[in-house]
Amino acid sequence: MSRFGDVPEAPKDPILGISEMFNADAHAEKMNLGVGAYRDDNGKPVVLNCVREAEKRIAGNFNMEYLPTNGSKDFVQQSLKLAFGENSAHVADGSIAAVQSLSGTGSCRLMAEFQRRFMPGCKVYITVPTWSNHHNIWRDAGCEQDTFRYYKESTRGLDFEGMVEDIQNAPDGSMFLLHACAHNPTGVDPSAEQWREISKVMKAKNHFAFFDMAYQGFASGDCERDAQAIRIFVEDGHKVALAQSFAKNMGLYGQRIGTVSVMCKDKEEANRVESQLKVIARAMYSNPPMHGALIASTILGDAALKAQWYEEVKGMADRIIKMRTLLRKNLEESGSTLPWQHVTDQIGMFCFSGMTGEQVDKLRTDHHIYMTRNGRISMAGVTSSNVGRLAAAMHEVTK
Ligand code: PLP
Repeated sequence: MSRFGDVPEAPKDPILGISEMFNADAHAEKMNLGVGAYRDDNGKPVVLNCVREAEKRIAGNFNMEYLPTNGSKDFVQQSLKLAFGENSAHVADGSIAAVQSLSGTGSCRLMAEFQRRFMPGCKVYITVPTWSNHHNIWRDAGCEQDTFRYYKESTRGLDFEGMVEDIQNAPDGSMFLLHACAHNPTGVDPSAEQWREISKVMKAKNHFAFFDMAYQGFASGDCERDAQAIRIFVEDGHKVALAQSFAKNMGLYGQRIGTVSVMCKDKEEANRVESQLKVIARAMYSNPPMHGALIASTILGDAALKAQWYEEVKGMADRIIKMRTLLRKNLEESGSTLPWQHVTDQIGMFCFSGMTGEQVDKLRTDHHIYMTRNGRISMAGVTSSNVGRLAAAMHEVTK
């Protein structure tokens, strides 16, 4: 009798499970469009030149001591300026509680735990659909979750009316998890005008906006523009909270670099909130990683390197936008009579194709093309040389 004889096998993660199946496939032209990691036009992972330069500058110049529980102060300050604006008065006056955390996931997890401890009875409202891990994170933190409308199947665009209605109908003071830009998995973002409206409605209801920003720069190619939702809310007087990730936009995936921040009434309140975030982090992982934080702060703290980074983020976003155009063109030229405009309307790393789970299964079994069963295509894995084969296969399974 084994001690662990009754432990059931856990279900596979819908995203990471795809990579496992992909790795087991020996086909020469297999395509992994599951995981959201950027690839160049040859399908290869990318290390940005600004990251390589930052690595050179830091090599040999730092010891390997622990960072404090709240991480690198310099990195956190740079990170806040990137999100809230270089000249943000809130960053300057110290009224934002913030700690370096374990990329976007870890930042969300700290926030969820903070919510459980200090916002009793406050439910978190999550978009339908969302990044699947949001549900896991708030479940494991023991917070009550609910959902709100976001995506309209019939238009493959935003369900603005449904979203506003659900925000209005939630109990006053509820927490809403908003994707700051490049919504995952739909690639559908509100316009600036719509964000202003959403901000107004949420203000009237005294709701709390928690922004998850995993793709700053990846949506439009412009890091400033991609922060517009946060800046609109702040301008309207919201005290928002925010998770930032440098996985995608700096290509620091495995370095696990991010920040969680909570806007407070003043510096004194921020100190108290930050002290609690530190207590939570201390028990979970003690302190965050140093190397990636040094890379990010070196880039963000040097005008020339930062300018180079902006160019390189734009290069990645532009390549994805180009692949959207090519995919739509190839689908239309393949003879498909289905509407494919959403492929180019949607933004960021993902295309929410509208394909069914069965069609996705056929792509995998008949064409060795892998993606999540909700029909989400990671556009980062599409290249000039595989887009034709992808379009032909998509036409084949959607006929
Ligand atoms: N939030 C969203 C919406 C995401 O899509 C992702 C990554 O896929 C993350 C957070 C977190 O990513 P990471 O923990 O790698 O920064």
